[in-house]
Amino acid sequence: MGNILMQYSIHIDETMVDLRHIPIVLLAFYGGSLPALIAMIFIMLGRLLFSVNGSSFAAVIYLLLSTFVSIWIANVNFSKRMKIFTTLTLANIILSVVFSFLLKDIKLLSHLLPSYWVISYLSGFFSFYMLEYLRKTQKLFNQYKIESFTDGLTGLNNVRRFNEILNSQWENLENKGEKLCLLYIDIDFFKKVNDTYGHKQGDIVLKELGHILKYTIRSFDIVSRNGGEEFTVLLLDCPLNRALEISERIRSSVENHVFPLSYGEKIPITVSIGVACTSDTANNSSTLVEMADKALYQAKRTGRNKVCVAPQSKSAVVKNCPENLNDKDTNRLVDPSYSSF
Ligand code: GH3
Ligand code: MG
Ligand code: MG
Repeated sequence: MGNILMQYSIHIDETMVDLRHIPIVLLAFYGGSLPALIAMIFIMLGRLLFSVNGSSFAAVIYLLLSTFVSIWIANVNFSKRMKIFTTLTLANIILSVVFSFLLKDIKLLSHLLPSYWVISYLSGFFSFYMLEYLRKTQKLFNQYKIESFTDGLTGLNNVRRFNEILNSQWENLENKGEKLCLLYIDIDFFKKVNDTYGHKQGDIVLKELGHILKYTIRSFDIVSRNGGEEFTVLLLDCPLNRALEISERIRSSVENHVFPLSYGEKIPITVSIGVACTSDTANNSSTLVEMADKALYQAKRTGRNKVCVAPQSKSAVVKNCPENLNDKDTNRLVDPSYSSF
């Protein structure tokens, strides 16, 4: 940038007047000492390519001084605006002194220097505000990008991210020849937790469950909160028997955990889990979700706090998802095509 600015210099005899100090001021401010020093060297070399004479020697001294001033002020405890103002002022003073030695024409200097000061301030502050604006929008963009894929309460993936990952994993399945399993997890009687302890305490339970899920699965599996009190775990490269082990580990970890509420009370909760793996019955990603959801429904209908598995093939003979005789809902119908673990 400094070298480009030099291409648009005003030439007075051998002296070149331009704004090449501004990139250095901004670099010292935003990038630190090393980038500013590197830029200084490049701009010095660029200036020496134009000509080597007394004027270019003065330009080298000016660049050296203005770079050190920029680095010094960048590290002083001033506000951002004050730093830019002070650096530009000191750079302008140094330049005015250098020009006074080089040009020696009072009339010329009395025209040149005031306009140079004004232009230097205007372009310096314009660049500063442009950079501030760009940095702010970039920061917001990154923040919104993360938020658009993250569940605000638990920090897990949200349903949008879940769908994206599921679809991309599905596309790779055929190439890799791997199995993919999906666990659909729902807290049992969560409404009661909210009704008894309040929505805020319910949120604490949801967050805690998010932690348990993260620490119960393998590091490369993907946990998401798909909405409300429903979570999913995508088990990558995982056969059904391994998926059942993991599901059971999750179920029992939740059952054996006491969930602390904000005022010290601790409550137990349980989860029901529906499992579906890639098979001839799940031939696309939305069928896999549907099957895991149906298996979850089956776990709910047959007693809760259990793991139910969707059938692996249309022709397979599978065990019933047996009813839990301790549960109030045992009279409900059981779909015989869902097995339990
Ligand atoms: P089931 O065992 O059949 O799943 O019963 P349940 O009570 O868990 O299911 P139901 O669908 O009746 O209730 C789900 C509850 O989850 C209702 C709703 O208030 C609560 N819920 C959904 N999202 C949130 C949330 O973000 N925070 C809290 N605290 N509660 C939520
Ligand atoms: Mg529930
Ligand atoms: Mg639910």
